[in-house]
Amino acid sequence: CVGQHQVPQASVAGVTDLLARGETAPRVLVPSDTDSDYTQLRRLLGGALTPEQVLAELKASNLRGLGGAGFPSWRKWETVRAQPGRKAMVVNIDEGEVGTFKDWQVLTTTPHQVLEGLLIAALTVGAEDVWLYLRDEYHDGRVILTQAIAALKQRLPAWQHKYPGWTWPAIELRRGAGAYVCGEESALIESVEGKRGMPRLKPPIVAVNGVFGRPTLAHNLETLWWLPEILEKGGAWLAGQGRRGRSGLRRFSVSGRVNRPGVYLAPAGITLNELVAEYAGGLPAGHTLKAYLPGGASGGILPAALADVPLDFDTLAEHGAFVGSMAVVVLSQHDSVRDAALNLMRFFEHESCGQCTPCRAGTVQSVQLMTEPTWDTERLAELSQVMRDASICGLGQAAPNPFDSVLRFFPEEVQ
Ligand code: SF4
Repeated sequence: CVGQHQVPQASVAGVTDLLARGETAPRVLVPSDTDSDYTQLRRLLGGALTPEQVLAELKASNLRGLGGAGFPSWRKWETVRAQPGRKAMVVNIDEGEVGTFKDWQVLTTTPHQVLEGLLIAALTVGAEDVWLYLRDEYHDGRVILTQAIAALKQRLPAWQHKYPGWTWPAIELRRGAGAYVCGEESALIESVEGKRGMPRLKPPIVAVNGVFGRPTLAHNLETLWWLPEILEKGGAWLAGQGRRGRSGLRRFSVSGRVNRPGVYLAPAGITLNELVAEYAGGLPAGHTLKAYLPGGASGGILPAALADVPLDFDTLAEHGAFVGSMAVVVLSQHDSVRDAALNLMRFFEHESCGQCTPCRAGTVQSVQLMTEPTWDTERLAELSQVMRDASICGLGQAAPNPFDSVLRFFPEEVQ
């Protein structure tokens, strides 16, 4: 978790201004009632935009789910929209990935842009109920979001009068209870329904059978934030951003051994070396890059020799890593990668929901093996395989990534 004074200056301006300054994160919280005038929503309501045009722009933008999975957003929308019966939507603000704080930054500086995106999505797919699921540790975020929802609800009667014929969704805020696994969409839905937050077996996917059995559009908060931007500037504009053939812009949460930790809006496909040099102020004096986490706890640990590979969805798999929600943690020669991996495994051990044995028992056994002076690499490799193959959800499947990275890139630290 990063204190608000550790990240750069706030902005409630459009993305162009943010890009020009190369940063997005707040030094001082600026909860605003004016960060969005709901222009794009009113275009949709007034008929200047049709739901089909919204979908076409979304498709053209190549917007992907920014909670970590990177699934093409338009495909979710089309699936939910095509389902019969009453539809729902859940907004994932349960930002629990290690090193991730971008959603907090978006929420606390531009809550109305998020709500505008939420309404555009709900009206386009026909969702009649929306649950926002908020990480309860975000006390300031809850205050700001509650105020923003109240302000929005004050505007609704005038819009309902001016733009009749729309079915407006009921919006409800739900507070999480600190479980990392509730960032997984089906566990989040279980929690919204009042049950223990445990991931469901799939299929069915939540787009077909989600909250209370309804077809459900599940989106991360930042994904919704992008919708007004896309409708204002065009899907092709967003798709045209990026480096090395990648498409779009990404918010990276950067922490660890850098001079300016913070949230940075940067082109998809940027490398770690570029991100640190161009945005995060380089490494502090006396530190040289040793390793980095490209995607929080789950995304593995990469050595400095791989600091020039593009950071984006689908680019790191050959190195046993992924970017997930773009949480980059920088380690220097003063850090032990082995200790970092053990710390991450303890995190997974603590956060495992316990539903399936490979994850519940595998994380416990991994921690025991990783606390030995010399690691039993054969046993760890076996555990890794079982956890990957037989865990129900991504937590257990990705939990071996940290120790697999150590075995692959830093064997000298454990032998
Ligand atoms: Fe729960 Fe872990 Fe199994 Fe996921 S993999 S369902 S967190 S026990």
